[in-house]
Amino acid sequence: MRIGFGFDSHEFKPGIPLKIGGVKLQAEPGLCGHSDGDVLLHAITDALLGAVAAGDIGAFFPPSDPKWKGANSVVFIEEAMRHIEQAGYRVGNVDCTLVLAAPKIGPHAKAIQERVAKLLKVETSAVGIKAKTPEGLNLDNTAVAHVVALLEKA
Ligand SMILES: [Zn+2]
Repeated sequence: MRIGFGFDSHEFKPGIPLKIGGVKLQAEPGLCGHSDGDVLLHAITDALLGAVAAGDIGAFFPPSDPKWKGANSVVFIEEAMRHIEQAGYRVGNVDCTLVLAAPKIGPHAKAIQERVAKLLKVETSAVGIKAKTPEGLNLDNTAVAHVVALLEKA
């Protein structure tokens, strides 16, 4: 077994769609970033890569490369999945904590859980989606994601 940890943050910006965990939420503002700003998929990608000591998302998809501008972050997850599979592993489970002031994640948690489970080729019960507001952190304009991933030998 291997364990990986991923962290990511993005700033909210008006006028762009909000994507979290590969799900487009009917909410604004969205998260800005070089790709589609999907803070959760980025943290999951880093957790997967970290679990097999493969480096980080920036090494695979450099923000300096125009190729990744506006990229769908699903591509990052798919590449990380190929990487762990090549290393002889599959995902056991992941646990995710989102920290953001708005929107409320509760109503979207199931859709995000199902989407992430599909991307990671696991049952929905192997994907924990939790969310908190940034109490006392002064981070109301930022979305943060923390993810731990456990990999099992395939
Ligand atoms: Zn990111």
